[in-house]
Amino acid sequence: MAEHMDPEEFRRAGYAVVDWIADYWTTLGQRPVTSQDPPGTVAAALSAGPTAHGEPIEAVLADLDRVVTPGLTHWQHPGFFGYFPANTSGPSVLGDLVSAGLGVQGMLWATGPACTELETVMLDWLAELLDLPQRFRSTGRGGGVIQDSASSATLVALLVALHRASGGRWRETGVDRRYRAYTSTQGHSSIEKAARIAGLGSDGVRPVEVDPRTQAMRPEELRAAIEADRAAGVVPAIVVATVGTTSTTAIDPLPEIGAICAEYGIWLHVDAAYAGAAAVCPELRWTHDGLEHADSYCFDPHKWLLTGFDCDAFWVADAGELIEALTVLPEYLRNAASESGAVIDYRDWQVPLGRRFRALKLWFVLRWYGVEGLRAHIRSGVALADRFAERIEADDRFELTAAHPFSLVCFRLRAADEVSAELLRRVNATGRVHLTHTRVDGRYSLRLAVGSPLTTEKHVDEAWDLLAATATDVLTG
Ligand SMILES: *Cc1c(COP(=O)(O)O)cnc(C)c1O
Repeated sequence: MAEHMDPEEFRRAGYAVVDWIADYWTTLGQRPVTSQDPPGTVAAALSAGPTAHGEPIEAVLADLDRVVTPGLTHWQHPGFFGYFPANTSGPSVLGDLVSAGLGVQGMLWATGPACTELETVMLDWLAELLDLPQRFRSTGRGGGVIQDSASSATLVALLVALHRASGGRWRETGVDRRYRAYTSTQGHSSIEKAARIAGLGSDGVRPVEVDPRTQAMRPEELRAAIEADRAAGVVPAIVVATVGTTSTTAIDPLPEIGAICAEYGIWLHVDAAYAGAAAVCPELRWTHDGLEHADSYCFDPHKWLLTGFDCDAFWVADAGELIEALTVLPEYLRNAASESGAVIDYRDWQVPLGRRFRALKLWFVLRWYGVEGLRAHIRSGVALADRFAERIEADDRFELTAAHPFSLVCFRLRAADEVSAELLRRVNATGRVHLTHTRVDGRYSLRLAVGSPLTTEKHVDEAWDLLAATATDVLTG
């Protein structure tokens, strides 16, 4: 018979692992943000296969230190300013640990009632926290669900939109004619991927031009694209508008886009993967103006709201349509609770059948921080980004390349693109910070995104000092 880790040994090893994580967080700031090792370094340092007989957890922890952490990009590092943040927190990790320990499969209400009900309530709490339109609350026809990622949310939204646009035929026939999705040229790559998965192909996504000043979708261009497609016999199925685009955090004009979607009966999905978290602060809710027009909305607590990956919060205004589009009921899943119609079966709200108890980490985070704690986190990110942007504006050698309503600042040197690219390469090579880049209206831009809970004024000032000093080097050749 196999020997398992008994609860007492788990307790002992578990404390050691918690200690290991606490030590990691304590020493994080002293490590290089990224590994400078060449590809293959980590793989080569691992043993060729598993040992014949088991080893103690301590042996694995030793190899974590020896092999794994030196080969990481440290996303929680106070000098990590790349992409968007993917911040986590103590309460999130502990909630996830409980979820792992329970090992519950929440595919049906009946397979873990508390797993479903806590999730429904957490999504209502979040809707309240962000002051989302009433139509998304579970008290009416709407409701929320946790998806693994914003990409999955977009895919699910597209599938329901196809169901609606086909008059309910899509479920049986698949894509029986030409359907189209619209997003701005700045829309996330997950939209094109969703279109491929759904059988529309990349050509099924029509990129809509943006205003070069704001990088936001131009509603008149959207209308023109829809009109042209309809004239050509293509059925417009969905518009994906973005609050906080990945490149520059541009905000698409939801009131105008919503009115167009209503006029043509097109599904409106709003993707606020990163920037949605900002709406916990009343002073930032203007960024969501017009959201009452949306059929679905998502944001990622796993980006800027202290909840570890994976946790995307996705809401629909009409859950009935979503369930109709995705439900498949084999005999082995039939149960009295589902048939009573009184419960939610989240398997019908997502692509996979199985699902983890992810609401636990949200519950831990929301209760531990409280509303004011979460607001303080968002406000700190915005204030640090403002502080950094002021430094950029005060130095003639630099310029901002986009507005910075959230915690992302886009900037470049007033010089050829290659000079800014060289600046990025050199500051990242120090291992003290990690920034990434984009293109804004064709021009190379650096991006500095604040989000790690460990990042303070000191770290932002250090990043600026490093950039300013390195700029002197690259500009003088
Ligand atoms: C990050 C991002 C996504 C994808 O997020 P995942 O949750 O990692 O799938 C989608 N849309 C926008 C606007 C994003 O910034």
